[in-house]
Amino acid sequence: MKSSAITRRIIEALARQHPNADTELHYRNAFELLAATILSAQSTDARVNLVTPALFERYPDARAMAKATPEELEPLVLTTGFFRQKSKALIGMATILVAEHGGDVPADMAKLTALPGVGRKTANVVLGHALGVPGLPVDRHVLRVANRIGLAQGDDPESVEAQLCGLLPPAQWTLASDVQILHGRRVCKPKPLCDRCAVRSDCDYFAQLGETRATQAARPRPATTKPATPRASARKRPS
Ligand code: SF4
Repeated sequence: MKSSAITRRIIEALARQHPNADTELHYRNAFELLAATILSAQSTDARVNLVTPALFERYPDARAMAKATPEELEPLVLTTGFFRQKSKALIGMATILVAEHGGDVPADMAKLTALPGVGRKTANVVLGHALGVPGLPVDRHVLRVANRIGLAQGDDPESVEAQLCGLLPPAQWTLASDVQILHGRRVCKPKPLCDRCAVRSDCDYFAQLGETRATQAARPRPATTKPATPRASARKRPS
């Protein structure tokens, strides 16, 4: 595991490699980001950005969306996948916002995760980007990048979130998530492009790759045991 100082240095280097890192979802307020993040499950930000302009034109706030029916909403979010569950979640989320929070998005993890379709990752996205509350969303990219570099261990998002938050000041939590997500999408892909990476010198995975290559290069080559093939001219001809 890395120290806090090294972790800060790594996040700052990633921020320089991916300047202006931010969520790639388009939104104008916390309600729009919450709805867009619910739609982004099992989809891509680009695909969600294609459907949200028409969605938010028709349902600009929680009060409007709470009155929608699934039949009205489903065609609008169809292309993001799982459209029935997502439509139900959007209507349920908006209904609770109106009934319990005056139509506003609460700046509180427990209240957010009590909403339909909202898990800890979605809540952290909204808290960190739209409500000014430090949050560190952990998705599959953050899991991969943090484990490879050696900032965290394990594949449980909540545990990795706690490890990263413990290493960084709250003011860097959201940035740490944004830069690792972009790094995972652009550079530290499942097949990593380490030659383009700004944090190679601090990365455990890269160090292990180097050791493996060095060990393989230092290993003596095994002697050839295969008997030499007799030359055609030396082969005995059948009589
Ligand atoms: S050096 Fe390679 S494995 Fe390590 S963070 Fe960079 S791209 Fe990922």
